[in-house]
Amino acid sequence: MKILAIDTSCDETAAAVTENTKIISNIIWSQASQHADFGGVMPSLAQRLHRERIDFVVNRALSTAHCSLSTDIDAIAVTIGPGLAIALEVGISKAKQLSQKYNRPIIPVNHIEGHLLSCFAQPRNYKLQIINYKFPMFGLVISGGNTQLIYIEKIGSYKVLAETVDDALGEALDKCARVLGLGYPGGAVLEKFARLGNAKKYVLPTPLVDDKIKNRFSYSGIKTAMFRLIEKEKPLTKEKICNLATSFQEVAFKHIENVLSYQLNHKQSLALRAQPLTINHFLLGGGVANNNLLRSKLRKLLKPYKITLHTPYSKKLCGDNAAMIGVCAYLKLKARNEKLRNYKNSDFLDRIPRMKF
Ligand code: AMP
Ligand code: MG
Repeated sequence: MKILAIDTSCDETAAAVTENTKIISNIIWSQASQHADFGGVMPSLAQRLHRERIDFVVNRALSTAHCSLSTDIDAIAVTIGPGLAIALEVGISKAKQLSQKYNRPIIPVNHIEGHLLSCFAQPRNYKLQIINYKFPMFGLVISGGNTQLIYIEKIGSYKVLAETVDDALGEALDKCARVLGLGYPGGAVLEKFARLGNAKKYVLPTPLVDDKIKNRFSYSGIKTAMFRLIEKEKPLTKEKICNLATSFQEVAFKHIENVLSYQLNHKQSLALRAQPLTINHFLLGGGVANNNLLRSKLRKLLKPYKITLHTPYSKKLCGDNAAMIGVCAYLKLKARNEKLRNYKNSDFLDRIPRMKF
């Protein structure tokens, strides 16, 4: 099944062509530099830029894949949420327009589910069959807008075990980087500086350590503590910036580790029957999944539980992209054994900015 996928949920205008779980083309036009002056995403600007760029990005995805909508593409997949309402609208209306013109069905996709299943994507020349991991598994989506730990019973059947009650992890890293003068978005730069720092120089409070049941993430507390510390340490030197960056990453990731450990130790409660629940796979997705320190910490934590950490095959698949939306659409249809003709009527399709699983 060849799919043209579109994602305009935040500040990346993205389109891709996928064939089952293989990625044929993956075009991303980031708006990050345009939003940098605002220190975050400005919705009206995002919408204007999506409108200006969507045709170019869609055409480039098709031409790179040597595909045409009239002869090669079976369906259009589009992100309908969660995300910025007026940004989502651009992708959805483009999908509807193309669907009507070329008489192709539209498969609506949840952006978080796209990130969650991005580990199943394969390069176009990959010779092996579809990755066949055994369910159930755990997944963690950590991006600029979301921090969610998810129990994946099977594709299409999810339970959110923990999610953020305030800032997402990526958002907190971005804000911290901005206050340190490292630009926006700053997660990747912060990681580079953190590599040179000493985590013992500053001690920040680990969020929600007193919670008996660890089913939520919170980053606004350490963010405020960090801002205060930065003020106190001014004027900043490169050495101070590196030490501050390391300390922030350490507590931010420790919080993830604490919640994950708790959920792993209590995973049996997720079992429907009395049999022991075996989990061998863990899917990591979202922009923050690019972070090498976090990957190694998670690998180390999961090892005693005999759980393998999976990450998308390319770092380009961690941040927002449309290829994951195409792969997710295919996997959903396949899991439910659905026919494309069920998706013929797309008039009712609308954005769901706060879409849940
Ligand atoms: P997304 O929302 O999925 O597009 O992801 C964007 C988020 O990922 C932003 O908050 C970035 O700062 C963050 N990010 C990207 N690369 C890294 C990295 N190497 N370490 C930590 N965060 C990162
Ligand atoms: Mg995202």
